[in-house]
Amino acid sequence: MKISVFSTKTYDREFLDAANRDGRHELAYFEARLNEKTAPLAAGFPVLAAFVNDNLNAEVLGILAEQGTRLIALRSAGFNHVDLASAEKLGLRVVRVPAYSPYAVAEHTIGLMLTLNRKIHRSFNRVREGNFSLDGLLGFDLHGKTAGVIGTGTIGAIVARILVSFGCRVLAQDLRPNPECERLGVSYVPVEELLAESDIVTLHCPLTPETRHLICTRTVGEMKSGVMLINTSRGGLVATEAVVAGLKSGKIGYLGLDVYEEEGDLFFEDLSQEVIQDDIFMRLLTFPNVLITGHQAFFTREAVRNIAETTIANITAFEEGRVENSVQSDRVVPR
Ligand code: NAD
Repeated sequence: MKISVFSTKTYDREFLDAANRDGRHELAYFEARLNEKTAPLAAGFPVLAAFVNDNLNAEVLGILAEQGTRLIALRSAGFNHVDLASAEKLGLRVVRVPAYSPYAVAEHTIGLMLTLNRKIHRSFNRVREGNFSLDGLLGFDLHGKTAGVIGTGTIGAIVARILVSFGCRVLAQDLRPNPECERLGVSYVPVEELLAESDIVTLHCPLTPETRHLICTRTVGEMKSGVMLINTSRGGLVATEAVVAGLKSGKIGYLGLDVYEEEGDLFFEDLSQEVIQDDIFMRLLTFPNVLITGHQAFFTREAVRNIAETTIANITAFEEGRVENSVQSDRVVPR
């Protein structure tokens, strides 16, 4: 099939070409992010492959449907950037990559925790400058601490398992408790209890209308003083201004982010020669106890290969009249 691939980087091209090595599909790569202005590039392609910061709102979907797009193949697990109700109305099928490497994201999450706790990001710079002082680098043992995992699906369950293996007491919150976590000794508790008792809070639920700004002024207030907050899920889970206030007051002792609410204008691009206009993001960068990575938690060889192979397989299935990894407005099929 003819596929327009948006938000393409060199690694996308490399792995998608490898997944399409039999040449069955014809891929056209566009560096542009998908939005109202760039949607016309997809004219004449029945399939569009999109990434996390492509905008698939009602207007864009309308343009795509009119131009003949029939399938949106998401190169991601999350689908919060798609107006699914509009897609359904327009007869556009949406498929995704449900689990490409949950280990990639879980391991990055733990990496943020360890780096922030032991201040490895600061020691890296100090040692290179010949500064071997330990002042300000004091960490804490993870062993014996309480970690709260919000969302114990594929990724959250792996994070919980690693934290249990560190000797943490793990509390969790999910709409549906995961029996695998319960077997590990993870306790499901109401969110208020999780926030009040956790030394570390880590977010692994999807971004939905219910979870948007789950971390806000009120919930920051319910957390332990000096808490470590980690978000590798979706930026919209966190009201950034509330977190900035929490950092200023010391309520939040550590903040690790791989995602940011307004990341669409920043992440995946080299902006090192530009003046960044996002003042809230720039404020975050001034705190010594904040560590931000640019949506790279998924970025392992295994994950990128799986994304490419599943995307191509989803498109092949569609061409053959089968439905694989479909996303619908009220549910995800299959779970
Ligand atoms: P998943 O669907 O397997 O698990 C999500 C879990 O969240 C489910 O158990 C679900 O029941 C739970 N949940 C839903 N609503 C909830 C709520 N209101 N409160 C508490 N729990 C709730 O998803 P996953 O594969 O584990 O991925 C988790 C998130 O990680 C994704 O939604 C995606 O946004 C994000 N993600 C980020 C990256 C990255 O590179 N940073 C990569 C992949 C996925």
